[in-house]
This record gives sequence, C-alpha cells and structure tokens, in this order.
Amino acid sequence: MGLTLYNKKRNFEETTEPTGKVKKSVSKLVFVVQRHKASQLHYDFRLELDGVLKSWAVPKGPSMNPKDKRLAMMVEDHPYDYKDFEGTIPEGNYGAGIIEIWDKGTYSDVENSPRDEAEKKLRVGLKSGDFKIRLFGKKLQGEFVLVKLKGKDDNSWLLIKHRDEYAVDEEYNSEEQTKEDSPINKWLSENKKPSKKKNSQNQ
Ligand code: MN
Repeated sequence: MGLTLYNKKRNFEETTEPTGKVKKSVSKLVFVVQRHKASQLHYDFRLELDGVLKSWAVPKGPSMNPKDKRLAMMVEDHPYDYKDFEGTIPEGNYGAGIIEIWDKGTYSDVENSPRDEAEKKLRVGLKSGDFKIRLFGKKLQGEFVLVKLKGKDDNSWLLIKHRDEYAVDEEYNSEEQTKEDSPINKWLSENKKPSKKKNSQNQ
C-alpha cells in the first residue's frame, strides 16, 4: 500500500503527525494501539510490517476476551514513526482530535520465529486474510487473529483474542484501561453534554 495515501490525506504544515517515511525497527517488530478521539472515539491498531504500520480502526477497542469479535476496518498504512505519536490534530485536518497511546510493545508470528522468518509468515497471513499474531504489550498479550470478512467490502476485518493463558473470561472494556493522565478522558469530562433532566425549579 505504501505511504502515498497517508501523505495525501495530511497537511504537514498544520498537523504534528510524522511525515510518511518508510523505516524499520532494529530488532523486534513493533505494534501500537492508539486511542483516538475524532468525530467518533475509536482505537487504532497498528502492526509494523515492511517498514510501515499496517493499520486498522477498531471502534470498540481490542478485547482480551476470546468471545469478543471486534470489528476492525483496515485503513491506510501509517509511517513507522507513528508508533510514538500522541497529540492533538487541529480542527479541519484529517482525523482532527486527540490521539494517545493506549498500549505498545513488540509482536511476532504466533511461533515467535526469528525476524526474517516471522516477517515471511506475517506477509502470507496478512495477504490470506487470516492474520495470526502474538503480541508482547503491557495490556495486550498472547495470540490474536485478524480475520478478513468475506463478502463484505475489502476493508472489514475482525480482531479476536485466541484462548491462551492471557485470555480473560470476564467482560473486557478497553475504556476502563485508560491511563490516569489521559488527555482524552480530561477532554471528555470537560465536554460532557448537559444532562437532559428537567429543571424542576422552572416548572
Ligand atoms: Mn484513528
């Protein structure tokens, strides 16, 4: 896919997002999950492959419960440097809003093969629409799969946790796992819609 679309969508004189350059990690492949308050609050799930971050927007956020099948819409590749991006995208720009890192770490194929072999397997998995991965994050750990939905438009996938020692059975809500100093939480609490309760004094 490359970074042409990424660069085309953005005005780098206005946004502080990194410009699109292909670049690779030195040892382990990296992943990042960003929480993004744009017109809709969602999560962006990104996996390094071939010098870019393959990217999916996950409206409900990832889950550690294997029963959850989280819709993941594939979006344009993002540059490797995006793994560190946090900040505010000014109004009027693509993806305007706030981005904060929710989880990051390294990842591999499920067998945790050496880098070259892992990348080969990952390319095949991604292409086949049955993309099995192993995450080494702080919140997200163990095996996951991204499954491409057939018969839907080309961009729809499901993100599912595989049953392993890291999987949980209780309800999992990524919104309960946000960091204490979250700029998005701050924004949300300051911009609560006024409650629709009737004011009894005026009646
Ligand atoms: Mn996003």
